[in-house]
Amino acid sequence: MTDVQPKPTTTDAGNPVASDEHSLTVGADGPILLQDHYLIEQMANFNRERIAERQPHAKGGGAFGHFEVTNDVSQYTKAAVFQPGAKTDTLIRFSTVAGERGSPDTWRDPRGFSLKFYTSQGNYDMVGNNTPVFFVRDPMKFQHFIRSQKRRSDSNLRDHDMQWDFWTLSPESAHQVTWLMGDRGIPRTWRHMNGYSSHTYMWVNAAGEKFWVKYHFKTDQGIEFFTQDEGDQMAAADTDYHTRDLYEHIEGGEFPSWTLKMQIMPFEEAKTYRFNPFDLTKVWPHGDYPLVDVGRLTLDRNPTDYHTEIEQAAFEPNNLVPGIGLSPDKMLLARGFSYADAHRARLGVNYKQIPVNAATAPVNSYTKDGLMRVNNVTDPVYAPNSYGGPKADPSLTDDSGLWYADGEMVRTAYTLRQDDDDWGQAGTMVREVLDDDARARLVDNIVGHLLNAVSEPILQRAFEYWRNVDKNLGDKIEAGVRAKQDEKDPKAAQSNPPRESMQAKA
Ligand code: NDP
Repeated sequence: MTDVQPKPTTTDAGNPVASDEHSLTVGADGPILLQDHYLIEQMANFNRERIAERQPHAKGGGAFGHFEVTNDVSQYTKAAVFQPGAKTDTLIRFSTVAGERGSPDTWRDPRGFSLKFYTSQGNYDMVGNNTPVFFVRDPMKFQHFIRSQKRRSDSNLRDHDMQWDFWTLSPESAHQVTWLMGDRGIPRTWRHMNGYSSHTYMWVNAAGEKFWVKYHFKTDQGIEFFTQDEGDQMAAADTDYHTRDLYEHIEGGEFPSWTLKMQIMPFEEAKTYRFNPFDLTKVWPHGDYPLVDVGRLTLDRNPTDYHTEIEQAAFEPNNLVPGIGLSPDKMLLARGFSYADAHRARLGVNYKQIPVNAATAPVNSYTKDGLMRVNNVTDPVYAPNSYGGPKADPSLTDDSGLWYADGEMVRTAYTLRQDDDDWGQAGTMVREVLDDDARARLVDNIVGHLLNAVSEPILQRAFEYWRNVDKNLGDKIEAGVRAKQDEKDPKAAQSNPPRESMQAKA
């Protein structure tokens, strides 16, 4: 309750309205009248409140903050946002991938970690995830991958059978699936997870020297996760747990922060590096490219209107500033098209004029008209012109972020390097990064996932998939699944006799 005198209700045109409670009728009990414009406006607006949800990354939340440079990395990039002492306003959106808007925050899934820097050179976006790798490396497979994680066409149910069908037929997914099934597959909160560019980008310094880089936003709150049971319980108790946690901590003045560290590879080294440095299913081991400090991201302001500031937020990897470029990562190059295209479909062609997406730097573009255009266009509306219209200044960009390529047009996989294979880095994680407890939880998580209606030929393929990652891990997974099947249905289990390798103790 408030003592403040409320403002008079108006229509969207600012006209005072007669009542918040009663529609206009012929007598108290008679029919309502079409000329009750306010009623019609309320009903019509309500019918149009929901906009198309993102496909994927539909469920999410976000906040505003700033990024402060704490180290001098000007030898690697001339981007204003990363120069010593620079402080830049930012927007972040966290999300799950497969669930719809309204789905639980604590389902096992990678998390989106999308950033917008409102820089003096225009907006710079990084569409990252909380994982350093991805399930596929060629954009031809991306749509199919996402469909396999979403819903069936017949029952409209999510289906582990189709998830494992896709994964086991796509061995390049093994590294990311290992990561997903491990502890970090259900972060305790968005505050307790890292963000990674995953993709390789290019940095260019003032002298024109080029570097390949990967971004690592390391949480200052420390990594924390939910076990599968905890995640399941939270999904039932508080669907919006991560959204609430972020909002309440910022509201309470506990501002989460992340330290940005980079891996930096000299341009020429990419040609001979032992892994293809542009393959999105691989990391660059820290021992090869140690992390270099850059600065700190702090979130300190909640949105005041979720719809206009978070739902309508549009991030795209081709929002690039001088000193930062793309790389030959095929997934990244495809995202350059698909993100902007998704925003045009979801928000309309003029989505960059929605205040949360608008640059704070001057915009002097030649785009014109279209649905929901709100910024006035001024003549001349074409280039070149003799009337003082904007003129491209190549010295501002120096062709930053361009590289060279030649070759015949082909449809083929990346060329393999000395240490490139689909299982190696996943196996390293299992054997060298996880401890015994984390490995045991990994086995339990995978067994539980596979027991959820994965059919027999795919199940067998899954055991081989995990044996390729790590023989011992695969054996334990098969033993775990068969033992549980046996408990449930001893007869059926007998028709799947244990393999020799099943003797391994879980
Ligand atoms: P390091 O020992 O230097 O790094 C291992 C990294 O693994 C840690 O720094 C940490 O990343 C991450 N990590 C720790 N626990 C988990 C977990 N439960 N689930 C997922 N990731 C975890 O070794 P390398 O750099 O040589 O990499 C070895 C393996 O570690 C890789 O094959 C890859 O699977 C994994 N990894 C590597 C990363 C990289 O960029 N090099 C990043 C993340 C994982 P962080 O410090 O970012 O929290």
